[in-house]
Amino acid sequence: MDVTFSQRLGKLPPYLFADLRRKIAAKRAEGMKVITLGIGDPDVPTPAPIVAELQRAVDDANDPDRHRYGCDVPVTEFPAAVRSFYQRRFGVALAGEQVVTTMGSKDAIAKFPLAVMDPGDVGIAPLPGYPTYNIGHVFAGGSTYYVPLRPENDYLLDVDEIPADLADRAKLLWINYPNNPTTALADLDFFARAVEFGRTHNVLICHDAAYTENTFDGYQAPSILQVDGADDVAVEFFSLSKGFNMTGWRLGCLVGNASAVRALSTIKDNVDNGSLRALQFAAAAALNSAETLTAEANEPYKRRRDMVCEMLNAAGWNITPPQATIYLWVPVPAQYAQRDGEDGYSSSGQFAEDLLETHGVVITPGRGYGETGEGFFRISLTYPDDVLKAAVEKICEMNK
Ligand SMILES: *Cc1c(COP(=O)(O)O)cnc(C)c1O
Repeated sequence: MDVTFSQRLGKLPPYLFADLRRKIAAKRAEGMKVITLGIGDPDVPTPAPIVAELQRAVDDANDPDRHRYGCDVPVTEFPAAVRSFYQRRFGVALAGEQVVTTMGSKDAIAKFPLAVMDPGDVGIAPLPGYPTYNIGHVFAGGSTYYVPLRPENDYLLDVDEIPADLADRAKLLWINYPNNPTTALADLDFFARAVEFGRTHNVLICHDAAYTENTFDGYQAPSILQVDGADDVAVEFFSLSKGFNMTGWRLGCLVGNASAVRALSTIKDNVDNGSLRALQFAAAAALNSAETLTAEANEPYKRRRDMVCEMLNAAGWNITPPQATIYLWVPVPAQYAQRDGEDGYSSSGQFAEDLLETHGVVITPGRGYGETGEGFFRISLTYPDDVLKAAVEKICEMNK
């Protein structure tokens, strides 16, 4: 049968890492040893106490519901742990109706626009940025208005770049700090401006807080909900994936504006039926010990960050070690950057190709996150120290 697929499917851009995977496979088939620093997926195992709690809960014969739908018989311990965590960590008091459990945040980011946007509606997203904001808009029949993040503005989204008529029409504005891929940080003044924009133009502010717990050197990333009155116009997508080395577990939450939280619950009740109860117990345990667990989880990333920055700086770069995320956002060598602006030339794309071709090392070209990511590449610190060192030695050779 000749299946005809939806226009929606056709509108999805190619998955950023699918293209990378294909190129890597081709090189390996040629017999080349390929090291990839492309994907942000922690190599460090999930902390033992979290795994132990999963094992306990999945084995708990006293829980007659342990095999059942997570949304019908939810684990109240998880939202309670979220509320306690937000209070301790951010000084934010959340009401029970301001929390919904999600399957990590990608799930929630993709589904949330279904609750907010109608066909033809528009959402605002940063560029460079996480591709799923746009995917969610497309699934809901809407489209994306992109706002550039500029290095000269410390990659803070400038709401003044959004035309007023577009702002009045838009349903959502996505922001993400600490930022992937640029590693930029935002302070409460920035979040206050975003909240103000949301209130003025009746736009729901969606903060993707995937990296608030991946921080170093004593830096503490704020929650947008620390801004007075933010829970009237903002929601925050929190995830255990990156801060607790739990990407495969698929656990997170949406918090903030209560009616928006309820709307996502309604979508989820009709689509996914929630997460396994044992996972929710384990995630509750993770949040209840967040202070110690995240501090330990960040140690390898800090060590690798320092090692890679030192190597790059010795080779002629001038990188300030970022205080958050599991990435480095690095300018391409000058001989590539010089050619940007030439017809069809992509400095980050060319650098990525040459690096793979000559040295078998894979990084993510900034261009993959949108035109305004051009001129930079992203190194993920989620690889063992020796692998990272070997790969960065090759990267340094490209700067000669
Ligand atoms: C990794 C990531 C997510 C999603 O992670 P989940 O595993 O789905 O929680 C969301 N936003 C950004 C910016 C990310 O890098």
